[in-house]
Amino acid sequence: MSREFPRKIAIIGGGYSSLAAASLLSHHGLEVDLFEGHTYLGGCASFFKRGQYKFDCGATTLSGLMPGRPLHSLLLSLDVKPENICQKLNITHLETPMKLHLSTGKSITRHRHFSTFMEELAAQFPGINHRRLWQRMKELEARLWEVIGASQHFPPKSLSDLGNLLKPRIIKKVDLGPQAFIPLKTHIPSHYPQELKDLLNEQLLISTQSTLKEVPTLLAAMGLTYPEDMHYSFGGISTLAYFLKETIEKSGGKIHLRRKVKEVIPLGKNKGFELVIQKAGNKEVRFHADLVITSTTIWDTPKLFKGSIKERFEEIHKNKDKGTWGAMTAYYALKTKSPQNILYHQIHYKNDPTFNRGSLFFSFSHPDDHERAPQGIQTLTISTHCDANRFYPHIDKSDYEKIKQAFQSLCEEKLKEIFPDEFEILHAEIGTPKTFERFTNRHRGLVGGLPHNSKNNILTFPAQETYLENFYQIGDTTFPGQGIVGVTTGAMILAGKILKKNFLTP
Ligand SMILES: Cc1cc2nc3c(=O)[nH]c(=O)nc-3n(C[C@H](O)[C@H](O)[C@H](O)COP(=O)(O)OP(=O)(O)OC[C@H]3O[C@@H](n4cnc5c(N)ncnc54)[C@H](O)[C@@H]3O)c2cc1C
Repeated sequence: MSREFPRKIAIIGGGYSSLAAASLLSHHGLEVDLFEGHTYLGGCASFFKRGQYKFDCGATTLSGLMPGRPLHSLLLSLDVKPENICQKLNITHLETPMKLHLSTGKSITRHRHFSTFMEELAAQFPGINHRRLWQRMKELEARLWEVIGASQHFPPKSLSDLGNLLKPRIIKKVDLGPQAFIPLKTHIPSHYPQELKDLLNEQLLISTQSTLKEVPTLLAAMGLTYPEDMHYSFGGISTLAYFLKETIEKSGGKIHLRRKVKEVIPLGKNKGFELVIQKAGNKEVRFHADLVITSTTIWDTPKLFKGSIKERFEEIHKNKDKGTWGAMTAYYALKTKSPQNILYHQIHYKNDPTFNRGSLFFSFSHPDDHERAPQGIQTLTISTHCDANRFYPHIDKSDYEKIKQAFQSLCEEKLKEIFPDEFEILHAEIGTPKTFERFTNRHRGLVGGLPHNSKNNILTFPAQETYLENFYQIGDTTFPGQGIVGVTTGAMILAGKILKKNFLTP
């Protein structure tokens, strides 16, 4: 390394975690080069186009923009006013974020405002003190963001991190600690009807990848309350990602698309790394960096190395993919007879033998979002969790097609059941874990991140620091992971540490 401090930074991947880290580091004067293998940025929160339609490919709900939440804090750290950016990009806070259609036929509207949502629950499930649980969730969520915001050393991974957590502002919140381990199940009264437990389970699964039995209460608090913070982004979920791209480029950072990092070669103590990068036409280029941050999953990171380093990374994370999910997705363009104004719907059903899961998540484009579909047409992305192992190590073409067809039938059956006669299907296509593997380079198409549970908790979750000096991991398989909010938090924590190392103030 030619300098005393690591100033030349290479970031692998162009998803939200990488863009958040790159924007902060370049904003504070470090030399940043970001390499993305795909044509578009956004990773699991990216998009694809089909003629006049633009589809969100994975993530569809944008949260974290309320004050004190990660995207809000990120924008403030970049010296921009979140309200101005939301206005400029046409990102709107949803009053009625979501509707839940239970398998028993009930439907429940998730209102943004707490009291209205409590009234809705009381009307649907009378005789239960809903406020007790939900108020607790709301308080825990708010207090947790305060701890994360105040410490920037969460979770503690070193003595210095622990020291930081002992600040008076944080120590006051020490009672939160046990909630990082106690499963939410222990807070659920025994008289809760199964229907209500199912509702909680399905809501937790889409936000935390876990269920009542396993999910730690603190994470459950974030997962259950996030609809309050849900925003609709005109143009798609990647609009903000492209805003971060602009910010990075304005501060001198460079974004290289269609550049897949094939290999990372450590050059020895204080000498940095050489990256072997594949360009179009299978040409290779080499790039030198003092410090490398990768957003590859913990199963893909070993593939960046050779020999004993590869083996060591494999050993560190072996068996961590247990309980991790793949996704089945469906993409529709629908001619709407009466436009759908509640844009997000979770449709619960009794376990389906093909997918062994119990809900579908529907995300419509706004009827006035003409960047995504022309007047009178709405796009729809449907997703559900699935067992990715059904597709690996090998699946016959005919079995693969059968799974896709079965999923398409399920989606269309539910579409007709919940929205009878409201739509005409103009375009349909299906995505599988193989699709995610191809477009995001993720091992076995595993998405959504590591579920937080008794095995993967704040103490055992994969760390950002690795055993290689100046080589770091971010993204949804390292702490705190999960969703745009989680990966942005992780990226901000790491960027803060790197800036401090360079004597720059985050
Ligand atoms: C179906 C589905 C629905 C979801 N719904 C939501 C939601 O509604 N809200 C929400 O907040 N989250 C949601 N998520 C989760 C969220 O999308 C992810 O957790 C988050 O976007 C992950 O960001 P990341 O940066 O960690 O990784 P990724 O998004 O996977 O980005 C990694 C990037 O790195 C690139 N890459 C990988 N290897 C290389 C390499 N060797 N060289 C160069 N580039 C490389 C990939 O192409 C990719 O662009 C959903 C995910 C899925 C799949």
